[in-house]
Amino acid sequence: MPTVQCRCGHVLPDVSDRLPYKAYLHVDEHDELYWDGIVRETLGLLRNARRQTERQGVLDRMLPGAPDADVDDAAALADALSEHAARYTRQVYACEACGRLLVETAPGSGDYRSFVPEDDERAVLASDPEPPATA
Ligand SMILES: [Zn+2]
Repeated sequence: MPTVQCRCGHVLPDVSDRLPYKAYLHVDEHDELYWDGIVRETLGLLRNARRQTERQGVLDRMLPGAPDADVDDAAALADALSEHAARYTRQVYACEACGRLLVETAPGSGDYRSFVPEDDERAVLASDPEPPATA
């Protein structure tokens, strides 16, 4: 079970999505690389989808009634973007017990530095109760 342990001893389990004590960050020095990669991956998928549509058009003319190509664009894009983002994204946890922020020192390293808060705030990474609707 993936977990991160705070210096105070509290264990932060990371076994589900939408954790109120977890966030992701990418450093400003990688901001252009991060967004350029998202654009590149998205354009690549769009080009592939266009080629697939063209291929399907040819198949439809040559083999009427042939089944559509089985391409799940959303899953392909999610995989490509997740892989890209993992190269630049660090994980951050806010300890629910002591409030420390644990910031991963490099993407995927699993090594964390902790920072002690100056006040009693404990839920700095929690979102609004109602996230914005997605399309
Ligand atoms: Zn703690």
